[in-house]
Amino acid sequence: MEQSAVLHRHLGVQFPLLTLSESNYLNLDDGRKILDASGGAAVGCIGWGNQRAIEAVSKQLGQSSYCATIFYSTRVQEELCRELIGSTKGHMARAYIVNSGSEAMEAAIKLARQYFLEISPPQPARTHFISRRQSYHGITLGALAVSGHEYRRANFEPLLMTNASRVSPCFEFRGKTPGETDVDYVGRLARELDEEFQRVGPEAVCAFIAEPVVGAALGCVPAVAGYFKAVKAVCDKYGALLILDEVMCGMGRTGSLHAWEQEGVVPDVQTIGKALGGGYQAVAGVLANHRVVRAIEQGTSVFVHGHTYQGSPSGCAAALEVQRIVREEGLVRNVREMGTLLGRRLNEALGGHPNVGDIRGRGLFWGIEFVADKETKEPFPVQDHVAMSLAELGLTERYCIGVYPGGGSADGVRGDHIIISPAYNVGVAEIETIVNIVARLIGDFFAAHN
Ligand code: PLP
Repeated sequence: MEQSAVLHRHLGVQFPLLTLSESNYLNLDDGRKILDASGGAAVGCIGWGNQRAIEAVSKQLGQSSYCATIFYSTRVQEELCRELIGSTKGHMARAYIVNSGSEAMEAAIKLARQYFLEISPPQPARTHFISRRQSYHGITLGALAVSGHEYRRANFEPLLMTNASRVSPCFEFRGKTPGETDVDYVGRLARELDEEFQRVGPEAVCAFIAEPVVGAALGCVPAVAGYFKAVKAVCDKYGALLILDEVMCGMGRTGSLHAWEQEGVVPDVQTIGKALGGGYQAVAGVLANHRVVRAIEQGTSVFVHGHTYQGSPSGCAAALEVQRIVREEGLVRNVREMGTLLGRRLNEALGGHPNVGDIRGRGLFWGIEFVADKETKEPFPVQDHVAMSLAELGLTERYCIGVYPGGGSADGVRGDHIIISPAYNVGVAEIETIVNIVARLIGDFFAAHN
């Protein structure tokens, strides 16, 4: 076969060609038809090949394919931002549309910094960001600097800003000690965050950054009840902002449009991506609350940031139509109903497997963590590449299922998992098919591995 000219993630791998994406299936040029049980990287939310979304993008391209946002806006961008702001029930004041989750995080970091320069009196000493270990906030240097993804950081560590530090994630399966109550666990994590503020100097901290439900780095880990209220209280105590990264877990994925709605807190700045455009265009965004927007409005009134392709009309058209479909078809309710079923069926089918350590998630966002020893929770050695090998086996003809691998070999942190995150419009039969194939895949994989 001809050598690929694409600088693929894995240069030694000949990737199959995707020829047609339809409903929840991906057709490959070698004849395989893959059941897409993870919506790619938790992107697909209305399934593939949706005519309404395709037509909305095409129509927009016919009207204006590009908008130089230094001079102009578009009706579609104005409508999208109004709709996004409206969905926060008045908590957020403005939206900023970019092309990827990493760009959204870069903008969020800069917004937080600029907020402290614009308030009266300014607090220019605030330059530090606190985030969490085993987190992922994006691949660009700023977003990576606040990420706790050791494998993705390692090569670039010397290039990353040093005014960023990390505390423990809220990770019940591995973080909570035996016999510890939720209240005690939350109290311990809030104290750790408070101590980190003290260590850095509270007057130096811009923001605390976290994902409400941790995606790629941990595998669909929701926080225990009360955690976000407790960390928000620490931020408030020291006047720092709370940035919630909902690039993976937001826009309906976990059963509410915004994941923070289930935590009883509202962030100062929120990022969204993936399911915003559902894979119909590259589009992501930042939502900023009144406190942040007012400070900039009453200050210089200029956010010193921007990308050539920000506010892309076709990206906005995709996001607007995908979000309308999600709303009109009641898909977030379906996420809750099918999510409950998916969680129950995964537990029934796999809970007793000796190498399944934990099954956790929320909405249609479920992670299965693998262990070498169920009693001790001992993970597999990183060099076994368990999650990646299992996901690759899933793509073979015998299973034809797409699941999203993480941890272990993929993250360089110990503990392998796969993510199951199908489109929001899956039905009972599809959930059953996904669970049956995943159970067979996991059974066969470990029978051969152990
Ligand atoms: N934040 C989170 C929580 C993510 O999961 C990701 C990507 O997986 C990003 C940020 C970065 O988004 P992107 O890959 O679109 O740049």
